[in-house]
Amino acid sequence: MDNTQFKKIKKTLFKKERLVFDHLNKNQKAGVFKFNEQYKQFLNQSKTERKAALQIIQAAKAKGFVDIDTLTTNQSSHIKKVYKVFQGRCVALAVIGKEPLISGANLIASHLDSPRLDLKQNPVYEDLSMGLMKTHYYGGIRKYHWLALPLALHGTIITSDNKTIDITIGDHPDDPVFTVTDLLPHLAGKIQADKKISDVFQGEKLNLISGSIPLGNDKEKDRFKLGVLNPLYEKYGLTEEDFISAEIEAVPAEKARDVGFDRSMIGSYGQDDRVCVYTSLEALLDTPSPHKTAIALFFDKEEIGSEGNSGAKSSFLEDLMSDLLFINGQDTGNRSLRKALINSSCLSADVNAAMDPDFKEVHEAMNAAKLGFGVCMTKFTGVAGKSGSSDASAEFVGKIRQIFNTNKIIWQTGELGKIDQGGGGTVAKFLAKFGMNVLDCGPALLSMHSPFEISSKADVYMTFLGYKAFYADNGK
Ligand code: MN
Ligand code: MN
Repeated sequence: MDNTQFKKIKKTLFKKERLVFDHLNKNQKAGVFKFNEQYKQFLNQSKTERKAALQIIQAAKAKGFVDIDTLTTNQSSHIKKVYKVFQGRCVALAVIGKEPLISGANLIASHLDSPRLDLKQNPVYEDLSMGLMKTHYYGGIRKYHWLALPLALHGTIITSDNKTIDITIGDHPDDPVFTVTDLLPHLAGKIQADKKISDVFQGEKLNLISGSIPLGNDKEKDRFKLGVLNPLYEKYGLTEEDFISAEIEAVPAEKARDVGFDRSMIGSYGQDDRVCVYTSLEALLDTPSPHKTAIALFFDKEEIGSEGNSGAKSSFLEDLMSDLLFINGQDTGNRSLRKALINSSCLSADVNAAMDPDFKEVHEAMNAAKLGFGVCMTKFTGVAGKSGSSDASAEFVGKIRQIFNTNKIIWQTGELGKIDQGGGGTVAKFLAKFGMNVLDCGPALLSMHSPFEISSKADVYMTFLGYKAFYADNGK
C-alpha cells in the first residue's frame, strides 16, 4: 500500500474532529461574535430563574406570542405562537406546526436555575460589630468559590399583607454588594492545611457581611442586627418576619465578560444552563413555520433534582400539551395526550464538562468534550455504570447526527468524566418517562458550577444553529 492510498483510507475511516473556528468564513465569524454580544446581555439580565423567565416572556411577547392561559375557547387555531408560564419561574414557548400535535412535537428542554446562595428564612444576626445574613446553598457548589466575591441579592418577598416586593441590590455598579469572608493565608495553616476540603469549607460559614453601622447608641442591644433590618424597612417596608415568605438569592455581582486576547470565550455566572436557555429561545424565535410543533421548555429546580411544581418532574409539560391540543380544537382525551407525548422528540439542552488543561486526569480524552469543537451530544449521563441516566437510543442519536450533518452543524460527543470519577444528571430522564426519544445536547463548559463558567463563543453559536436545525426537522 502506498502512502497516498493509506492516507485515503485513513481519511475515509476516521471520524473527523472539527474546531469550529477553523471552519468559519469571515462573515460567519462576525455572526458568532454578534450572537454572543446578545447572549452576554441575556446573562446579565437573567441572574435568577425568575429574571430569566421574565426575559423569555418579554422576548416572546415582542415576537407576537400569546399567553396560552388567556385562550379560553378551542377555536384559537389561527394563533400559531403561544407561551405558558407557571409561577413566574417555569416557562414554555410553542410554535404550532403544520402537522397535528398527536404526531408529536420537537421539544428542547433546558433549565433556568443555577447554583447560588439562598438566604435562610431567619437570616439576619449580628456578630462582633457587624450585621450578617445566613445562607443555605442551592445546588452543587464548591463552597470556597463563594468566598471573597462581590455578591448581589435578587429576591421576591411576600409581605404579611400579601404584597409582592421584588428587590435587586448589587447589580448596578453604584449599588452596594455583599460578601462571604475568607481566612487570610497567614492564619489558615494550622486550622485548614491538613483538613479535608469538605471540613474546611462549611455551609454554615457561608454568611453574608451585610453592615457595620449600628442603630441607636452603645447602651442598646441588637443594634447591628437592626442596622441591617432598618434600611430594608425604610426602603421596602420589610420586617424580620417577611424573610419567612421570601426567596432571596445571593449571586455573583459581576457581569458576563469576554475571555482571552482574542475574545473567543465568555466568562460568566449561570451559563449552566442559561446558555441552553438562550440558544433554544433564539432558535425557537427563529422558527416561524415548522412541520412539527416546536416547543422550548424552560424548567426550574434542575440543580436540586428537578423536584417541585416548577421542576421537570412536575406536570407542566402534560398541562402545556393538553392546552395545545385544546386551543387547536383537537381531541384532548388522555389517549391523545399520551400519543402527542410519546411521538415527540426531545433534546435535553444542558451543558457538559469541557476537558480542562489543568485537570485532564478526570476525563477520558477519547470521549471527553473539548472547548471549541461544537455542540456536544451526550448519549448518557449518570454515575457508576450510567446509573440514573436515560441513555438515548442508537436510533435517536443517529437521527440527530443526520440532522446536524445535513445542516453542516459542527458537533462533538462528550461523556461527563472518566468512568467512576463522579457524574451527574439532567432533565432527560424526566422527559423520557413519557416514551419520547431524548438526547442530551448542549455546549461544553470549563469551570462548570463556578461563579465564572467559561464557554466558547463558537460552541454557543453552533448550539443555536443545531437547535434551529432540530426544530426545522420534519420528523421523517
Ligand atoms: Mn445544567
Ligand atoms: Mn448544573
